Amino acid sequence: MIISMRLHATKEEVDAVCRRIEESGYKVHTIHGEERVVIGAIGTGDVTSCLESLQAMPGVENAVRISAPYKFVSREFQAESSRIRVNSAVIGGDEFIVMAGPCSVESERQIMETAEAVARAGARMLRGGAFKPRTSPYEFQGLEREGLKLLRKAKEATGLDIVTEVMTDSDVPLVSEYADVLQIGARNMQNIALLKAVGACGRPVLLKRGMSSTIRELLMSAEYVVAHRNPSVILCERGIRTFETATRNTCDLGAVAVLNELTHLPVVVDPSHATGKSSLVPPVCRAAVAIGADGLLVEVHPCPEKAYSDGVQSLSIPRFEAMMRELKPYLELWKQARQAQPGTAV
Ligand code: PEP
Ligand code: MN
Repeated sequence: MIISMRLHATKEEVDAVCRRIEESGYKVHTIHGEERVVIGAIGTGDVTSCLESLQAMPGVENAVRISAPYKFVSREFQAESSRIRVNSAVIGGDEFIVMAGPCSVESERQIMETAEAVARAGARMLRGGAFKPRTSPYEFQGLEREGLKLLRKAKEATGLDIVTEVMTDSDVPLVSEYADVLQIGARNMQNIALLKAVGACGRPVLLKRGMSSTIRELLMSAEYVVAHRNPSVILCERGIRTFETATRNTCDLGAVAVLNELTHLPVVVDPSHATGKSSLVPPVCRAAVAIGADGLLVEVHPCPEKAYSDGVQSLSIPRFEAMMRELKPYLELWKQARQAQPGTAV
């Protein structure tokens, strides 16, 4: 059960609700949001009578039963889609948000050139890894703190917000100083310590689906972040492992539609890791727009053949510009569809 307290519910009212929940055999999980207190009642008991008594208590706005294993992120809990504000951009609202940039931050020249180009072409955020989770220990591991500083420079020059990966819980304070959105990579989707740490970081989180993770597991990971007091989670479909070898991963675009049914959180698609091949990126971007994603995370490099990581799947700057131009009519339709959605006030 989830119990939403009224806007100005008193501490006594909240305490009384918590006591009632515990007396009914449930464990209390309280989230103090900016505006209101929301209380999760976790466990098994006589739901119907407990709900009825909670609904009648002073200070309670609403009490509902959530049948899904993930609670706060489910559509049952919140029917209206969440909008996640990142400075001037809103993800999950009436603007399709493109995040673009290199796989890794490599040098000042590389990141500045890419940032300026993607900003000109219409991207709203700059992606770029300073901490890289590479498959081989002998491959480029990222510029770490130096990379974060370069991302800040690029932000200052272009106004683009920064999306960058954090790999360990101990790095969360450092990365939060520089990032506008903290990326949790596919390999870390179930790093519970990291999920808890970004829950407490106060920055929006871009949570990538693990390459062998189900949609349910992705939502359970998102639930960790939200349950640890961070409601600003953006989900990312980045392809999963299947028997298919023609692409690096199999882009599970259907997952976007499934997620849109199951959760109120916004969903973006990463066509670069999902396909592993730059020629496949533009068509998958178009499909992501059509299926109702809220944005894209695209790898772009000024010289893909010389990239330190993921060059094969990175778009060159001219190819990114062309893709953004080609996407325009699709984005018009996206906007119309979004405005026609019931309950979406845009
Ligand atoms: C990345 O975004 O560069 C990355 C490492 O992605 P993933 O975690 O999806 O493999
Ligand atoms: Mn990459």
